Amino acid sequence: MNLDRVFENNKAWIKGKLEVQDDYFEELGKGQNPELLYIGCSDSRVTAEELMGAQLGEVFVHRNIANMVISIDLNVMSVVNYAVDHLKVNHIVVCGHYACGGVKAAMQSADLGILNPWLRNIRDVYRIHRNELNQIADEEKKYDRLVELNVKEQCVNLIKTAAVQKAYRDRGLKVHGWVFDVHTGKLIDLKIDFEKYLHDIMEIYHLD
Ligand SMILES: [Zn+2]
Repeated sequence: MNLDRVFENNKAWIKGKLEVQDDYFEELGKGQNPELLYIGCSDSRVTAEELMGAQLGEVFVHRNIANMVISIDLNVMSVVNYAVDHLKVNHIVVCGHYACGGVKAAMQSADLGILNPWLRNIRDVYRIHRNELNQIADEEKKYDRLVELNVKEQCVNLIKTAAVQKAYRDRGLKVHGWVFDVHTGKLIDLKIDFEKYLHDIMEIYHLD
């Protein structure tokens, strides 16, 4: 990528937008009203809007290494609370992806410095599901499955929050788990049974 071209690209992009709609930026400047919060990986191959075909203003986005929802991470928790309580999104998606470097790193035992406490949360996902994972002999399949289980556990972490539980009760907000297959470009809905998890979790984490 040639950084000198960035501003030229930007000019061309503005021109393209104005050709389709001459008040595009006036409208954009009025504010946002996204329906969806997307929590994905920082990986350069999984840009939220592009893989969904979404336009500016349609998706509120948070990305970090391995799409984690960690209760003591002020960053992700601020995003969730702002999106749910103020922007009033009705859907939250956790989107993982196959060939995720963060998940791969968590599968290996190595000292990665500041990344250790972050990756430990993925290692905890492995520990919770080790009976299933240890039965998978093929390392690639095990890796793919850990990506999926990590998405599931991050959805569970969302459902533990008061903001999500209240928004479900008040307006039927839903949490979805997806995986992007970088080998085919396909977006896969893991069809997480949100209501079942909510019901199970509320026995322990009921917050209102
Ligand atoms: Zn990743």
